[in-house]
Amino acid sequence: MVIELLQGLWTTFKHIFKKPVTVSYPEERVPLAPRYRGRHILVVDEDGMERCVGCELCAVACPADAIYIEPAENTPEERRSHGERYAKVYKIHMLRCIFCGYCEEACPEDAIFMGKEYELASYDRSDFIYGKEKLMMSLREALRQRPDISLEKIHRD
Ligand code: SF4
Ligand code: SF4
Repeated sequence: MVIELLQGLWTTFKHIFKKPVTVSYPEERVPLAPRYRGRHILVVDEDGMERCVGCELCAVACPADAIYIEPAENTPEERRSHGERYAKVYKIHMLRCIFCGYCEEACPEDAIFMGKEYELASYDRSDFIYGKEKLMMSLREALRQRPDISLEKIHRD
């Protein structure tokens, strides 16, 4: 009994002077892995046009069935993207999403990217349905979060 107690104290003592592996979040943060996949970015081009053309390929590729899209036709009076259509409704259910990145892989327009933001907590479940107002970000912001994206890839012809 005493031996076990001393062994326990010795183990505790050995770790007193070691550098802790944890950090004082949120004041301190560990660097993200280069390929970390955080919340999504729907890119808005520099000319203000949405890159998404509402093709729904990302929704088809999503293994968690987390993406809901309602496409609509662009008209001469109201043009939102360079394609024939745009995503009138684009929602991601963030509680379903497994952050696999398949939506980014599937997109033929380079319109959606996995960003680096990870502070997504909320007490309200309805906050986890991310619509266009939350997902759309400028090309500049997309490149800030994802400097690995090449301009050749993201810029249209
Ligand atoms: S990251 Fe994966 S699970 Fe999440 S929306 Fe994209 S395809 Fe679906
Ligand atoms: S994000 Fe890409 S794959 Fe998804 S609907 Fe828009 S253009 Fe299509």
